[in-house]
Amino acid sequence: MTCLEAQSKIIAYIDYNLEKDQKTEFLKHIQCCENCKDELNIYYTMIEGMRQLDNNMPLSKDFSVELDNRIEHELRVNKNKKSVMRSSIAVMAIVLISFVLLTYANFLNIIHEEEQAKLKAAQGEYYYYQTFDGYMFEPEEHALVINVEEETPEMSFYEKVRYYKVLNH
Ligand SMILES: [Zn+2]
Repeated sequence: MTCLEAQSKIIAYIDYNLEKDQKTEFLKHIQCCENCKDELNIYYTMIEGMRQLDNNMPLSKDFSVELDNRIEHELRVNKNKKSVMRSSIAVMAIVLISFVLLTYANFLNIIHEEEQAKLKAAQGEYYYYQTFDGYMFEPEEHALVINVEEETPEMSFYEKVRYYKVLNH
């Protein structure tokens, strides 16, 4: 924002008539441009002073401090809003990434399950073929499925004791 633009917005700023984006730009300029800050100070003192006189209010003791407080407050509110925005963007990114990862993990799982199923089917067929005769072999009917994943369950303590006793007798 140029000085000319900033100075044309001084009165609108004082009257709270600036759009949000314009106000942000305006405050940015005011913070780094002493000339425009001085101009704003003069207008603020005039306009606020008149308003207070019109309303029979006690006059502010220091208009420039009042103005500084207002600017500081508005900048703080802006910053907070920005950080809220930033953190909600971060949350959304995290949700999106987890979603993608979950979908990918699910996809891998499906592939793994398919491979396992193929493996089981192949083993089932082999077992069938070995156990019975080649003549009886009918792939559509191989209900016999060997569970390759199932581990033998661990023996309980008592079972171990019994097993041990059997071995030693
Ligand atoms: Zn300026």
